[in-house]
Amino acid sequence: MIDLHTHSNVSDGTDTPGELINKALATGLTKIALTDHDTIAGWDEATLYLRPGLDLILGSEISCQTEDGISVHMLGLLFDPNNKELSEVLSTTRDNRIGRMEKIINRLNEAGISITMEEVLAQLSDGATLGRPHLADALVAKKVVKDREEAFAELLHNNSKYYISHYSPTPEAVIKLIKGAGGVAVIAHPLASLRGRTVSVASFDSMVKAGLDGIEVSHRDHTLEQQELLAKIVKEFNIVATGSSDYHGNGKLNQLGEFTTSQEAFEILEAKADARRVVRK
Ligand code: AMP
Ligand code: ZN
Ligand code: FE
Ligand code: FE
Repeated sequence: MIDLHTHSNVSDGTDTPGELINKALATGLTKIALTDHDTIAGWDEATLYLRPGLDLILGSEISCQTEDGISVHMLGLLFDPNNKELSEVLSTTRDNRIGRMEKIINRLNEAGISITMEEVLAQLSDGATLGRPHLADALVAKKVVKDREEAFAELLHNNSKYYISHYSPTPEAVIKLIKGAGGVAVIAHPLASLRGRTVSVASFDSMVKAGLDGIEVSHRDHTLEQQELLAKIVKEFNIVATGSSDYHGNGKLNQLGEFTTSQEAFEILEAKADARRVVRK
């Protein structure tokens, strides 16, 4: 069972990387990708906790924004962690998330919802990528909302008047960076419309030209129709279809292994990386 998209508390998941690896073993996964938002900070701990029976695919879910302002998440897998260009972009995006959080907090404060940056940062583990889920957790701690779901539904969703995006490079630029670092690029949940505007089907063309290796087809935020449409697109472009849980620990309902990637699909992806980077013990 292969799950190619999961989060730890190095971004907005709630399990430590070590706990995530233990849960993956307990769930019976055979391969897991760790893909925290805009960071590789969990890679060492995940590697440390790995045991025989589970292979670790190190990666990151990288924030992108199209020229017309649509948010896109790109899974970078099996890339070289020492690649300078990619590391710098991840670091810049993490920095931009701080100023953006301050602006969202200001908007909430102006509307009479009292919350401070300190309260949000208190929800974050050391060095983790800051995101709206931490703001949600701070609002839960203050009893403004009951859980992350309600925080997003009421206040933090992409169409909310409090929402502000953070600057990120285009999907094409991020694909090129991932490929330049020897990795593979898979676009995450491209049609997950619950989250806000999504890319048009036509835009896959330029992403494939930039080197896109795969599309995350099977994901709980896609309807069956959307999965069928994406499966067709994958065939047309002769790229790879993946499936994954997008697990966030207690932060979301998603369960490890609820959607998976076939062994065959994974092997095609693995062969596209410029080095053998799957971690095995
Ligand atoms: P940000 O990266 O700050 O833009 O926040 C987006 C992240 O919030 C996504 O990657 C999800 O992990 C999380 N998220 C989005 N919607 C929800 C929701 N309804 N409940 C919990 N977490 C969510
Ligand atoms: Zn997330
Ligand atoms: Fe995502
Ligand atoms: Fe994710």
